[in-house]
Amino acid sequence: MGAIGNKPKKFRTAEIYDEPEMLADLDSIRKQAKEEGYVDSFKLDIEKFIKDKYQDIKIQKVALASEVSGKLEYKDGVWVMSVNVQHPEVRQRYTLGHELGHYLNHRDSIKSFEDTVYFRSKQRSSMEYMADQFAARLLMPENDVNELVKSGVKTVKEMSLKFGVSLEAMKYRLEQLGYGIKKSE
Ligand SMILES: [Zn+2]
Repeated sequence: MGAIGNKPKKFRTAEIYDEPEMLADLDSIRKQAKEEGYVDSFKLDIEKFIKDKYQDIKIQKVALASEVSGKLEYKDGVWVMSVNVQHPEVRQRYTLGHELGHYLNHRDSIKSFEDTVYFRSKQRSSMEYMADQFAARLLMPENDVNELVKSGVKTVKEMSLKFGVSLEAMKYRLEQLGYGIKKSE
C-alpha cells in the first residue's frame, strides 16, 4: 500500500463532506475512552469499551454468511451485536464501530440492521453512511491521524497498524481527510 502524501490545502475536510449533526457527540466519546484507559497509544479497545459502557448491548462473535460483516438486532430488551468471527480482527473492530453508530444514532427508528460491504458510499443510505462515518471517526480520529503524519508515519500500512484497522479503512479515512495516497512506497 502506498505512502501518505502531503495534505493539499484545497482538500480540506469540510469541503469533502458535511458532518452529520448527530455525530457531534463522537469526539467526546473518543475523549472519554481515552481518559478512561480504553485507548492504548492510538488503538481503541472498542470491544471492551462497548461491553463496559453500554449495558444493553450484548456482543456475540459468530460465523455469518461471508458477505455479512455484522448485525444489530433488538431482542428481549437487549441489543444483540453480532460480528462475523470469520472476518479479520481489524474488520471485526470496524464492524463494532459501525454497529455502535447504528445503536447510538438509529435505534429509535430501526430495530434490526444487517451489514455487508463497507466503503461503497454511492449505493448506501444516509444511515449506512452515517454509521460508517461514526466507525471511521471513532477508530481513526482526525487529530490522531494528523499527529501520526507529523510524527513521521509515512505509509498507510504503518498507520493502519497504529489504529488497528484494515488497510482499506485507513486509506478511505486518509483520503477523506484530504491526504493524497501515492501508489508506490
Ligand atoms: Zn449498517
